[in-house]
Parts: sequence; C-alpha cells; structure tokens
Amino acid sequence: MTHVIDGKEIASRIESGLKERLRSLAAPPSAAVFYSSSIPEVISYVKSKAKRAERLGISLHLLDMASMDREIFLETLSRVSSSPEYDAVMVERPLPFQVEEEAIFSRIPREKDADGLHPGNLGRLFAGKPCVVPATPAAVLRILDESGIEIRGKEAVVIGRSLVVGRPLALLFLHRDATVTLCHTKTANLAHHCIRADILVAAAGKAGLVTGEMVKPGAVVVDVGTNYVQGQLVGDVDFPSVSPLTSFISPVPGGVGPVTSILILENIVALAERLHTPIETP
Ligand code: NAD
Repeated sequence: MTHVIDGKEIASRIESGLKERLRSLAAPPSAAVFYSSSIPEVISYVKSKAKRAERLGISLHLLDMASMDREIFLETLSRVSSSPEYDAVMVERPLPFQVEEEAIFSRIPREKDADGLHPGNLGRLFAGKPCVVPATPAAVLRILDESGIEIRGKEAVVIGRSLVVGRPLALLFLHRDATVTLCHTKTANLAHHCIRADILVAAAGKAGLVTGEMVKPGAVVVDVGTNYVQGQLVGDVDFPSVSPLTSFISPVPGGVGPVTSILILENIVALAERLHTPIETP
C-alpha cells in the first residue's frame, strides 16, 4: 500500500526539537537574507520562511536585491557578512543580476554559510565530515529517516546534478551506504536508470518527467521539483501514474518544501550555537 509522506507533519516535529535548542542559546539567532522582490516565487517563499522564523524567535533581516545593482550587492554582502550582528548570511537564488558564486563565497565566511554552499562546506561534505548541509538534500534524507526507510544497500537514483540539490544529495546517499546513480540532461535513457531505483529522487524542475513506467513497484519516490503549470504548483513526478506503484511517495506540494524551510532555520540555529556560549537552562 502506498504511504503518502506528510512533509508538514515532519516539519512540525523538527520545529519542536528546534524550540528546545533555541531555549539553550544565550541570544536569539540572527540571519541576513538577501532576496529579490522582483522574482515572485522568491517573495512567497521568503515571506513564509520569515513568518516561521519569527514564530521561533529567530531574527531574519531581509535585504532586497531588487533595489541594488551588482556592485552595491557585493559591497553590502561584504559588510553584512563581517558584521558580528549576524550569525548567518543567506542569498536566495535566482539573483536579479549576474554574480559568480566565487564572488559570493569569498565574502560569506564558512562559519556563517547557512546555505551550505561555501566551498569549505561542500569540501567537508565531499569528505563525509560534519558540515552545514544544503537544506533541500538534507530534507530528502530527513524525510526518509523520519519515515523509517532504510538507505543502506539500496539503489538510489537522483535526477538532477545541481550544486544545491542533486550533487550533495548523491554524496549524502553515498555516505549512507546506498549505491548511487546521478542522472542529468545528458543521461541516455533516463527510464532505464529510474526503473532500477529502490529510492528515486526527482530534482530536475520538469513537470511530469517521471511517469509510472519508469518506477519499480514498491519503490520510494521523493519529488523535489517545483514547477508552476497553469498557476498550480506541481512536482517532477506524475503523481497519478506513479503513486499507486510506490511504497512511499513524497508529494509536491506538501513534501520536501516544508521540511526544507525548517531545515534552513535549523542551519541558522546550528551556526548560532557555535558562536554563542550556551547557557544552563533551569
Ligand atoms: P537546476 O535547474 O539547477 O538543475 C536541474 C538539474 O536537473 C540539472 O542538473 C539538469 O541536468 C537536470 N535535468 C533537467 N531536465 C532533465 C531531464 N529532462 N532529464 C534528466 N535531468 C534533467 O535546478 P535545482 O536548483 O537543482 O532544482 C531542481 C528542482 O527542485 C527545481 O524544480 C527547483 O525548483 C526544485 N527545488 C525545490 C526545493 C524545495 O524546497 N522544494 C528546493 C530547491 C529546489
């Protein structure tokens, strides 16, 4: 029987754990978040993140890149990143102008990198050392763990090789002893790889990419994709044809999204924990 994973429920469990950790911090965490109000999907995402942060007592200082050009952005990023006022700094993609990733990460020190994309963090992830993990791949693993799904020894197939999602996720699966296949736009015969998956993760950003004939009966399917089709949010997985075949499926909306949002806040708390002296709670 198919079990449809409830990402909101998992997120609220994580939120309860975070509240505990926040209580033992001497000062509430504070993060600077660069976003662009000219990109509609980013606004709603940032607003919901800010609301959740406020509920938890995490202070998010929003900086709108729409009112900046490249030079002002880089200057502001340098200033904010070196300010002791902030435990963490984040830059929401896409940006309204062209900036090389190196220019961003030469300004945000690893100790403040809540996105987990600093080369120092990615290098540690590659080596399997403790680090800040990008929130979306971390959310996929957390969903599997919270659902009691074994990863060790499984065939894990990931569609998408971006630096933010697919590549770190493939490494995380590898560190958890899965046998990993990473697919991308140049993969010949995507279906051939997908059908072997015990755990299939779709992170391509293509609505309807994964259909029933690509999925092994009993597989676990996690949909990461977010696509807008006629104003509706849909994932990469064709839910009607795929879900009856699966043992577990993480849908869009309501799967990876809510878990990612809370794990970003968890990353901020983890960074603050290293910078502030914990206090004894009565
Ligand atoms: P991206 O565009 O940077 O990368 C997409 C990857 O998918 C590329 O590596 C590309 O090679 C691969 N791909 C694209 N079309 C393909 C195809 N037809 N066959 C095989 N591979 C294909 O995107 P991203 O930032 O990695 O995000 C992927 C998706 O996940 C997007 O829809 C994004 O919106 C979504 N996303 C969701 C969350 C969340 O919290 N729910 C977070 C981040 C990203």
